Amino acid sequence: MDIFCKIVNGELPSNTCYEDEYVKCIMDANPNAPGHTLIIPKKHYTTLFDIDDEMLSKINGTAKMLIEKMEKCIPNIIGFKVAVNYGEDQKVKHYHMHIIPTYSKKSNLTQEEICEILKK
Ligand SMILES: [Zn+2]
Repeated sequence: MDIFCKIVNGELPSNTCYEDEYVKCIMDANPNAPGHTLIIPKKHYTTLFDIDDEMLSKINGTAKMLIEKMEKCIPNIIGFKVAVNYGEDQKVKHYHMHIIPTYSKKSNLTQEEICEILKK
């Protein structure tokens, strides 16, 4: 079983910043920037070729919600990269979307601090 299935079913701990019936959002353990978040569907889909449009739409809605919240609540964010990796670039074979903020100047916020902001 992949690590995201284990996180979703509670076998592994994670820094969860949002969850609902369909998705679990966690802070990336090795972030490219503070606020680097992963949106993980609770149901297992291996790659972007396996996931259905209905679930993609829910994930996209979650992405917009997280981006709006970070843009509003975290200083110096000027943009975001939204990425879905595939093939050799996809390290965990359970579909997930990366949300990575870009800052106008370096942020000293930790993943834990941003997680707390997103939970409010
Ligand atoms: Zn999985």
